[in-house]
Amino acid sequence: MNANAKPSKMAVEARNGKRARITIVAPCFNEAETVDLFVETIAKTLSGADFDYDLLFIDDGSRDATRDRLTAIAQEESNVRMIALSRNFGKESALTAGLDAANGDAVVVIDVDLQDPPELILDFVRKWREGYDIVYAAREDRTSDTTAKRATAGGFYRLFNKISSTQIPENAGDYRLMDRRVVETVKLLPERSRFMKGLFAWVGFKSIGVPYVRPARVAGETKFNFWKLWNFALDGIIGFSTAPLRIWMYIGAVIAVLSALYATYIVAETLIFGRDTPGYPSLMVSILFFGSVQMVSVGVLGEYIARLFAEVKQRPIYVIDEVVGDAADGDAPSGLTP
Ligand code: UDP
Ligand code: MG
Repeated sequence: MNANAKPSKMAVEARNGKRARITIVAPCFNEAETVDLFVETIAKTLSGADFDYDLLFIDDGSRDATRDRLTAIAQEESNVRMIALSRNFGKESALTAGLDAANGDAVVVIDVDLQDPPELILDFVRKWREGYDIVYAAREDRTSDTTAKRATAGGFYRLFNKISSTQIPENAGDYRLMDRRVVETVKLLPERSRFMKGLFAWVGFKSIGVPYVRPARVAGETKFNFWKLWNFALDGIIGFSTAPLRIWMYIGAVIAVLSALYATYIVAETLIFGRDTPGYPSLMVSILFFGSVQMVSVGVLGEYIARLFAEVKQRPIYVIDEVVGDAADGDAPSGLTP
């Protein structure tokens, strides 16, 4: 992301010349407890705003009353639309479906649990009109997360930024506004393993953070357990860096040098002192050591190959079951519709 570049004058004029419409994309998975409050809060927050907005919910295969609630809201409110996916595809795929179908001048992606304060949208739009293409919410502190999550998340972003040429801001989540041309660019990225934060950063454009303090969920609980987060982190690292693949050349080279030194030592020792020790412990240790090093390196290869396999199959990223709402008469979503 190019945080220092100055916004272009033409972009600023285009964004201020007419009344803008912002599409707010919210992925929902088992959020029956939070959707109504979310819609209410958005309406209250944006009622006096000097731009129009429409809400686009993606029901990501919820197993509770979420879809029924969203269907009711989408039928009632003219500026609300729901796209229901055919099963749970995961947040990243749901977001992709949302971006594909969003047709506003700018798009905001937001969680429905109100951990992303809606009043920030006003700041987002202000910065967007100043000419920034991406305006993201920057967490001032993460006290609403557990200590363990904070430590692992911090470690992950530091590692990611070290070994990837794509840089993602450490304190940014998915909550952000993107200009139409950013959305169009993200839509050009076809990969199946969708680490959206990485894709958002990869496209570039002028971006800026708006600081905020992340509150706790209003209701329900997080959908991300340790295992899901681990796989998410792997998707991110493997999708945006080849360092884990290439590092084995250097590890191998270091081990080769050490082995040569050790071999010289053993040969010299045997020549000088004769053959007196059977050498079982050193043999055992080296067999186990090289066995595990090789398994780890094959495992890393496996991670890349598994993702190559997923890419080669070219399956759609999501499948749409149903679209509800007036705004649906606008752009047809480009995902797979039955
Ligand atoms: N979500 C989704 N599909 C999933 C998991 C989550 O669409 O498979 C949505 C969820 O409904 C919420 C957002 O993604 O709107 C963020 O989820 P959550 O609050 O559980 O994540 P956290 O804030 O704990 O990172
Ligand atoms: Mg949340």
